[in-house]
Amino acid sequence: MKKYQSYTLQNWKQIPQAASIPAEDRRAIEVVGHVLPFKTNNYVIDELIQWSQLKDDPMFTLNFPRKEMLLPQHYREVEHLLYNGDTQSLKALVEKIRCELNPNPSGQEHNVPEFQGVRLHGLQHKYRETVLFFPRPGQTCHAYCTFCFRWPQFSSLPEKKFSMKEDYELYLKYIKAHPKVTDVLFTGGDPMVMSASLLRAYIEPMLSPTMKQIRHIRIGTKALAYWPYRFTTDEDADEILRLFDDIIHAGRRLSIMGHFNHPVELSTDAVKEAVRRIRNTGAHIRTQSPVLRHINDDPKIWEELLRRQVGLGCIPYYMFVARDTGAKHYFELPLAQCQTIFRKAYQKVSGICRTVRGPSMSDHAGKIQILGVSEAVGEKIFVLRFIQGRNPDWVARPFFAKYSSTATWFDQLKPAFGEKEFFFESELDNYVRDALERDSGAY
Ligand SMILES: *Cc1c(COP(=O)(O)O)cnc(C)c1O
Ligand code: SF4
Repeated sequence: MKKYQSYTLQNWKQIPQAASIPAEDRRAIEVVGHVLPFKTNNYVIDELIQWSQLKDDPMFTLNFPRKEMLLPQHYREVEHLLYNGDTQSLKALVEKIRCELNPNPSGQEHNVPEFQGVRLHGLQHKYRETVLFFPRPGQTCHAYCTFCFRWPQFSSLPEKKFSMKEDYELYLKYIKAHPKVTDVLFTGGDPMVMSASLLRAYIEPMLSPTMKQIRHIRIGTKALAYWPYRFTTDEDADEILRLFDDIIHAGRRLSIMGHFNHPVELSTDAVKEAVRRIRNTGAHIRTQSPVLRHINDDPKIWEELLRRQVGLGCIPYYMFVARDTGAKHYFELPLAQCQTIFRKAYQKVSGICRTVRGPSMSDHAGKIQILGVSEAVGEKIFVLRFIQGRNPDWVARPFFAKYSSTATWFDQLKPAFGEKEFFFESELDNYVRDALERDSGAY
């Protein structure tokens, strides 16, 4: 049994390999780690990071802050105060920089509903069928990704945090009041940091016959990549699997939405055993990742990622575009390049791997997929479509944007053919929550 040991800014120098990190990178960990959340653990350190080639090691980059993850100006300011200033002014500076890093991208605050006069801080309801639940004890992770788009969940920006502060009963009532909701997706942070009994306390009420509308429970997690022992040798690992069994026996489908950024995360005996045990319960494992510079910006890596996932019986689900937050400037890639990576990998694998959809941007309006680059009436264009939309009627209608070789997010695109706006834009302005409210209790 492997005992979990985490390392953060406070104790990372005790990592056995810490001395082998070059001095400049050690300094960067201190400086950048004061702004972006930093946490790793003994599994990542012992089994995933290649310590002999730190300079380009994707798993090191995924967990350890690097100098370039802060803008040069921010880096200089933090470095200066860290070594020459007082704690108070350092704290104020860090707070200011964090707010400048767009802590909650894509208008997520619009997804948080008010219900019976109470704002449900631990729920997002953007797409008709699916609600996101943010259980309070699940708002941390076994290690932190340096590109994380949920980083305010773990930093000192309490007003930016999604978390269930309200009575859980209200959340269940909210679902009942929205009969079209069939899916609940537990997310975070990582809900798999919770004990089996806590997780059960959240899930079990949904299995009762009075909550039959819930057909599908999903758990979004990076534990398979960062702490697979959660499903194998942890003290309550068997209890976790029993909970999964119970979900299936209650006639619901369970999907573990596994977050894998690099093939190396699928290479250890521990992850293979964890996948095997989860699948034995009858749960599905669906996989997703953003496409990230310095981590997986190569079609060969994606080809390998898809093959290994399918080889273990997982179902590829999404390739995302990195969101505009935190260290985005370090990880971002032009949309055109994301699409090329997707296409080249997709072309190389069999149909079984092609359940992956992407590259997809989780924008304020919905999940927008870049289908490809084309040309029409003499204009080079992106062909786009919604995989999910705030208005379900927008989904699966191809639409067109002027091609750009540099744009990294949807808001940098212009409609093609001289149109003034995209087909959904005027509606989006008025839309926000009305449609979901319209649905509530109507059936
Ligand atoms: C992606 C996402 C979902 C789930 O969408 P599916 O297409 O059903 O996987 C739900 N809510 C939000 C806010 C999302 O971003
Ligand atoms: S596992 Fe997910 S929520 Fe946790 S740090 Fe990584 S991206 Fe963020």
